[in-house]
Amino acid sequence: MGEGTRWVFADQLGPHFADAPAQPVLLIESKAVFRRRVFHRQKAHLVLSALRHRATGPAVRLVRAETYAEALRQVDEPVSVCHPTSRKARDLVRRLDVEVLPPRGFVTAPADFTAWAQGRRQLRMEDFYRDARQRHGILMDGDEPAGGRWNLDTENREPPPRTRRLDVPPPPPITEDPIDAEVRDELDRWQRDDGIEFLGNDGPRLFPATRAEALARLRHFVEHRLPLFGRYEDAMLAGDPWMAHSMLSAPMNLGLLDPLEVIHRAEAAYRSGAAPLAGVEGFVRQIIGWRDFVWHLYWHFEPAYRSANKLGARQPVPSWFAKLDADAVDARCLSDVLAGVRDRGWVHHIPRLMVLGNYAMQRGWHPGAMSDWFHRAFVDGYEWVMTANVIGMSQYADAGRMSTKPYAGGGAYINRMSDYCGGCRYDPKVRVGDDACPYTAGYWAFLERNQAKFRGNHRMRRPLQGLDRLADLDALVEQEKARGSRAP
Ligand SMILES: Cc1cc2nc3c(=O)[nH]c(=O)nc-3n(C[C@H](O)[C@H](O)[C@H](O)COP(=O)(O)OP(=O)(O)OC[C@H]3O[C@@H](n4cnc5c(N)ncnc54)[C@H](O)[C@@H]3O)c2cc1C
Ligand code: SF4
Repeated sequence: MGEGTRWVFADQLGPHFADAPAQPVLLIESKAVFRRRVFHRQKAHLVLSALRHRATGPAVRLVRAETYAEALRQVDEPVSVCHPTSRKARDLVRRLDVEVLPPRGFVTAPADFTAWAQGRRQLRMEDFYRDARQRHGILMDGDEPAGGRWNLDTENREPPPRTRRLDVPPPPPITEDPIDAEVRDELDRWQRDDGIEFLGNDGPRLFPATRAEALARLRHFVEHRLPLFGRYEDAMLAGDPWMAHSMLSAPMNLGLLDPLEVIHRAEAAYRSGAAPLAGVEGFVRQIIGWRDFVWHLYWHFEPAYRSANKLGARQPVPSWFAKLDADAVDARCLSDVLAGVRDRGWVHHIPRLMVLGNYAMQRGWHPGAMSDWFHRAFVDGYEWVMTANVIGMSQYADAGRMSTKPYAGGGAYINRMSDYCGGCRYDPKVRVGDDACPYTAGYWAFLERNQAKFRGNHRMRRPLQGLDRLADLDALVEQEKARGSRAP
């Protein structure tokens, strides 16, 4: 099974996508992908750089072609491929004359998920995560979870420290090489001569493009940053975009790192006493829990899930947001986060969920358009990640199949979990007037607009009771209507 040439997609670049180091590998580079959609410039750079670095390996052939079918016509021997990560690519490989192997690059197999999901009314990440830990013996002491508890969230997720800095070194910079220079020149040429457009700013490559770089980043994270990971996982600091996050989503999604090896390194740090259980459990939960869970949900949910829009959100994404015009925004949190996406193509989870996604959901922006934007604007964005994270978790467009209530929050949440509000021209406690925080006002306007849909949800009872008590609700709704799609 799987002998002959292994065709690897640009998100299957690690050694675990081939069966042996000597197996011939086929890589296909298609420029058409960049013609069809406007990606972040740094994402285009990262993907091309990773592909071309992989092409320097032994027994690798890189074919540049307009389409995959055209490239495959140039190969005579039998070709196999690991199950791709999108429906479109899966349908393509099924149509072509290639052997399709089970997916790799995730900890759990489709059969694990199917067995777990069988007969369940509600699919909850926490239950899936515990099942996966048991199946794979991760952070387990015999039949019991290490330390006696499955979930250590109560010890994690603190607000940022008052010192406004974490005592962890940032990841060492990546040294670009001639392949990066060639990619940069080529992208400049595409922009200049071919009418191909990109989003965001170019800049030094910040994410690993080779297996060696990815392993170095993993080692550095486990040694220096993992111990503080869980504690400040949900906090945001204006002056520190990385905090103690791993920045490993991009190399894992490119297939450069196997998530199981990442988890094993983290567990080894706990077992040797180098990192506390709370941080390690929090990190392992992100990978074997969230990452694998959203991967399986992409295939489990029907294809129409990606067009779900149960809140009837139809506003277009305004151009200042879509084009990352951070300078047009006064709201300090949103401006800083948009600037982060513009300059790096990456911000961590809470800015994605509670600053970008929350703002879009409050304003009723179209969930499908937001999903497309996240996919294109982030270095780690892939279709399989979008459905559950954007359509489900961040925009609540599935009316609760992913989360029991919408991730909507006002300025009080952002104020508690960040240092943004102190330096902002708005006041998180004010909901009407010149100083009204757009998140606080937006939160109540969102509840007001959707109250009929939320009345049956017991987790929304208290927020709706709060809404009923607002004396200035009419003025607030008028104010937010007038704000419309203007940058706040
Ligand atoms: C609106 C929205 C959009 C997102 N878009 C993406 C995306 O395009 N690509 C992507 O990989 N992740 C996405 N995520 C999940 C998460 O925000 C990123 O994986 C994480 O911020 C990447 O930074 P990191 O590697 O430092 O993560 P860390 O905080 O260090 O977490 C460790 C790892 O856990 C995994 N992980 C954690 N949460 C999730 C999750 N919800 N879904 C999938 N994997 C998770 C990632 O692989 C990550 O590298 C999104 C989340 C939201 C709310
Ligand atoms: S006051 Fe409101 S807009 Fe300003 S930083 Fe705080 S949450 Fe953001």
